[in-house]
Amino acid sequence: MSIFYQTLDYRTNMEFKARKKAFKKGKPCAICGKTLKPAEMMVAHLVPVDKLTDEQALYDTNNWSCRCIYCERKQNTLKDRKSFCGYVYKCSLPDGRYYIGQHHSNGEDPLEDGYYGLGKEWTSAIQGINKEKITKIVLAYAQTDKELDELEKHFIGDLNEADDLCLNVRRGGRGMASGEKHWAYGTHPSGETIEKLKQYHKENPKTGKDNPMFGKHPEPWNKGKAMSEEQKKKISLANKGKKLSEEQRRAISERMKGKNNPMYGKIFGVQKKYHPEEDLLNNIKGK
Ligand SMILES: [Zn+2]
Repeated sequence: MSIFYQTLDYRTNMEFKARKKAFKKGKPCAICGKTLKPAEMMVAHLVPVDKLTDEQALYDTNNWSCRCIYCERKQNTLKDRKSFCGYVYKCSLPDGRYYIGQHHSNGEDPLEDGYYGLGKEWTSAIQGINKEKITKIVLAYAQTDKELDELEKHFIGDLNEADDLCLNVRRGGRGMASGEKHWAYGTHPSGETIEKLKQYHKENPKTGKDNPMFGKHPEPWNKGKAMSEEQKKKISLANKGKKLSEEQRRAISERMKGKNNPMYGKIFGVQKKYHPEEDLLNNIKGK
């Protein structure tokens, strides 16, 4: 129970509770989308009560969000432990235009980290605006990147298309948008550009430490995977009747010599020990 509720007199408190009860009735959880029993649903303040400046804002339903107690609990533990990897926020301007996005965080208070969002339309909308005019609220905290993407997608929904006040250009999530939604849709680099790029990379080869793959050794995709009989048959059929050139044969032979041969050091069949005396006896007996 926060101090705020304790300061309310009984009557106001009851009225406040009744309003919240009416607000959450039949609404699904804004985070997981489930509609649970009334006792398991609650109303959360997007801007925390102790951050509200005027009392009227307490009753502002725009600041209310219906949640199931499980999601709310999770959000609170995440917040408290500061172990979240990021959060989904909503930044709004006094004229109602807003932007929803995700931000990776090192555990700093999202309302103090000075991050106000990216996005083409949004950035130009807030250009030159006093940051104090922007209202930032945290919609959800996430523990993993995947969860962060999912939450962002969940909160943006189709607002980017359905709501003019929403300045999001795309739906949420960092997964590559495809087709028309892709930022590069309809742009085709000219042959000249491609040649220039090729030339550039030829002149500035990224080798060693400069290569983005340096030091990384991704597991081969087929490691530990057995080929199916069907696959084996396919390969065998495809290779049937292929004649190797003299050169290829020599190269393979060279490659398989000595220690490189998979059979190197292996002994076939029953190993016979050498017993000169026994051999001599056998020889005498046999002949
Ligand atoms: Zn929920």
